[in-house]
Amino acid sequence: MSQAQHITVLGATGSVGLSTLDVIARHPDRYNVFALTGFTRLAELLALCVRHTPRFAVVPTAEAARQLEDGLFTAGVDTRVLVGEGGLCEVSAHPQVDTVLAAIVGAAGLRPTLAAVEAGKKVLLANKEALVMSGALFMQAVRRSGTVLLPLDSEHNAIFQCLPGNYANGLDSVGVRRVLLTASGGPFRETPLPELEHVSPEQACAHPNWSMGRKISVDSASMMNKGLELIEACWLFDTSPSRIEVVIHPQSVIHSMVDYVDGSVLAQLGNPDMRTPIAHALAWPERIDSGVAPLNLFSVGRLDFQAPDEERFPCLRLARQAAEAGDSAPAVLNAANEVAVAAFLDRRIRFPEIASMIDEVLNLESVIAVSELETVFEVDARARALAEQWLGRHGR
Ligand code: NDP
Ligand code: MG
Repeated sequence: MSQAQHITVLGATGSVGLSTLDVIARHPDRYNVFALTGFTRLAELLALCVRHTPRFAVVPTAEAARQLEDGLFTAGVDTRVLVGEGGLCEVSAHPQVDTVLAAIVGAAGLRPTLAAVEAGKKVLLANKEALVMSGALFMQAVRRSGTVLLPLDSEHNAIFQCLPGNYANGLDSVGVRRVLLTASGGPFRETPLPELEHVSPEQACAHPNWSMGRKISVDSASMMNKGLELIEACWLFDTSPSRIEVVIHPQSVIHSMVDYVDGSVLAQLGNPDMRTPIAHALAWPERIDSGVAPLNLFSVGRLDFQAPDEERFPCLRLARQAAEAGDSAPAVLNAANEVAVAAFLDRRIRFPEIASMIDEVLNLESVIAVSELETVFEVDARARALAEQWLGRHGR
């Protein structure tokens, strides 16, 4: 019998999903694709099913299921198609699954990712929005089920690699002074401020170092991505926002650092390619080949660092405020940001209005305690409604 781990890839058709399948395909003896999920890119999902022959595939609607089933039948592939959020949760919690890779973008990933946590699967987390929305409940569920949660986000994966194995007792107990969260600064790091009024979605999505999905690319351009990552780091490493310093490092070679009380600073370096953190988390505590070229320090040449400019990147300040406010504030921030980014990608608002919209929604929505998941979804829905109202008044 095969000893290969059975893996569900949530968001298989996306950037992280495809990088994951690339790593998995290099190690057929270790990994077996159990389920793949997609949303709009059905032709790509079909091609992935033909290539990886999963037991299950999940699509959003019955119509999409019929389409995929027709393609699978023609190709002679015996993959069962499930539908909707119920299907996503089923393939996340299925008894035969060992590991779930959570790479759906946005709030849509929360329930299926939590289903994997609650079922005690090893969870490799890319879907930072899920943790930002529901951090306290999410981490409670992790502790309750005893699941292994490993960060795929390159910065958090780097921090994890720079921490000793026993950091779960608190960063103080292992002598950590600060966490240094690196950021490239994105495509608009040096764009003259007045020009930000006129930047296009295409410019925002043209990240200098990383190739990623459209939502996270816009988040990187506004630095909301770093804000979400700050909140993500607080939950993953059980620390406060004041212990996390954001450092702009345009080359994206250092993926983050940990500063210890004795003055040592440990960093994780590598080419900016998600296959490194994916391979690390898949094989942890072992190491496997990821397909990433060795880092050539001579061609990198130099490593630069800058403090972030909050006038240029107001989203970073808003995220830090939400992190400090705690409770429901990060869920409000996340929901308003999802609406704002979609509106910017649809050309309904200008780039600087992303921050204006989020700022107003955060001011209008009072911070409430969150003790159950339903509250998270209520907060999320209210914040989206407020953001839509803002769009009605200011959007095109
Ligand atoms: P993509 O947009 O490339 O992929 C998103 C995936 O989610 C796709 O498979 C998409 O399906 C699916 N999806 C989208 N909406 C829904 C929905 N409502 N229900 C179910 N599935 C849905 O994003 P990325 O791969 O870039 O990012 C994925 C996550 O990983 C994000 O949370 C991001 O912040 C995080 N991340 C990404 C990194 C990167 O390098 N890309 C780095 C670190 C974190 P389809 O394509 O078929 O529509
Ligand atoms: Mg990241």
